[in-house]
Amino acid sequence: MLEACSAVKNMLAYRPPLSGRQGLRLDFNESTIGCSPRVLSRLRSLDAEALARYPEREPVEGEVADFLGLDAAQVLLTNGVDEAIHLLCATYLGPGDEAIIVVPTFAMYAIFAQAEGARVVEILAGDNFAFPLEGVLSRVNGRTRLIAVANPNNPTGVAVACGILLQVARAAPQAAVLVDEAYFEFHGETILNPTAPPANLFVARTFSKAYGLAGLRIGILAGDAGQMAMMRRVASPYNVNTVALAALPAALRDQEFVAHYVAEVQHGREILEHELRSLGLHYWPSRANFVLVRVGPDHAEFIHALRTRGILVRDRHSDPGCEGCVRLTVGSAGHTRTLIGALRDVAHNFRERREVRA
Ligand code: PMP
Repeated sequence: MLEACSAVKNMLAYRPPLSGRQGLRLDFNESTIGCSPRVLSRLRSLDAEALARYPEREPVEGEVADFLGLDAAQVLLTNGVDEAIHLLCATYLGPGDEAIIVVPTFAMYAIFAQAEGARVVEILAGDNFAFPLEGVLSRVNGRTRLIAVANPNNPTGVAVACGILLQVARAAPQAAVLVDEAYFEFHGETILNPTAPPANLFVARTFSKAYGLAGLRIGILAGDAGQMAMMRRVASPYNVNTVALAALPAALRDQEFVAHYVAEVQHGREILEHELRSLGLHYWPSRANFVLVRVGPDHAEFIHALRTRGILVRDRHSDPGCEGCVRLTVGSAGHTRTLIGALRDVAHNFRERREVRA
C-alpha cells in the first residue's frame, strides 16, 4: 500500500477557515479595498496569446530588484510568501535538522519544516510577546538550519528591532534566517539592505496585504545571490503565473495607491486601539494591519456576535499564549468605523448580560 513519508504522516492538516466568508472580511489580514485600478486595467488587457505562453519570471524579477535597490540575482519571485517558506525549507532542511520558531507565529513555518522531516523547536515569546533573544540564542546548535521570524509578527502585531535579528543571523551562520516582512508596509522598518548583510539572511515580502493581491499569489524572497542561486534550483521556473507577473509592475508603479491605503490602516489602527481601551478590552499595540485582542472565555460568542453583524474576525484562542484572543484586521477608514460600531454594540450586549447574571 502506498504511504506518505513518515514526516508527512506525522503532520496535522492545516485548514484555515476559508469557506462561507461572506461579509466584511477582517479575518485573514487581506486588504479590504482590493488592488489599484491600474492593476485591474492591466489584467483586462491580457489576451489569449499571453495566457498560451509559459510565464517568464526574470524580467519582472529585474523590476522588483530595482524597486528594492537590489541586484536581480538577489531576488526570487514566489507564489506568495508561502512558497518562499516552502522553498527555503526544501533548500536548507533535511531529516534531523532543527528549525527554530518563536510562538505564537504564522503556521506555515512549522508546516513546511515538518514536511522536510526537520524538528521544529518552538520558543515561547516573552512578556507581551516580546522577541525572546536569549531563548533563541540558547537553542541554536550545529543542527539549527532554519530560524523563521515574522516581523511584525502574526498574530500578535509585535515587531522586533532589526539589530536583534541581525544578531541572530550572525550567531547562526549555518542556518537560513528568514525575516518575513509580510506586513512591512504597515510597520515601515525593514532589514533589507543592511550594511554587510549576513549571507544567511533572507527577507520575504508579499503583495497579499497592502497591495490587495492575495488571490494572485505573489511574494518576494531576497537574499545573498549565491544562496538565491541554490533556491532557484529548487523552484519551478513557472512558479509565478502570467497573470500575476503582468499585474506586478502595475502594482509597484502605483505607490500612491499603496501609501494611501497604508495611511488609512495606520490611522484606523490607532482609532481601533483607542476604542478597545475605552471598551476595557486588552490588546497588544500592533505594527501590522491587525490587532490581537484578549476577549476572554466568551471569545467564541464574541466572534459569532460579530458574524451576525456581517463581520468576520479570526479566533486565535488555540495559539500559544493567546487564550481567549481574537484577531481583528484593520481595513479602510470606513471599514474600521463599521467594525467599531459593531464592537460597541457587542460589548454593550455582553455587559448587559453579565449584569443580569450578577
Ligand atoms: N507571512 C505571514 C507572517 C503571514 O501572516 C502571511 C499571511 N497570513 C503570509 C506570510 C502568507 O503570505 P502570502 O499570501 O504571500 O503567501
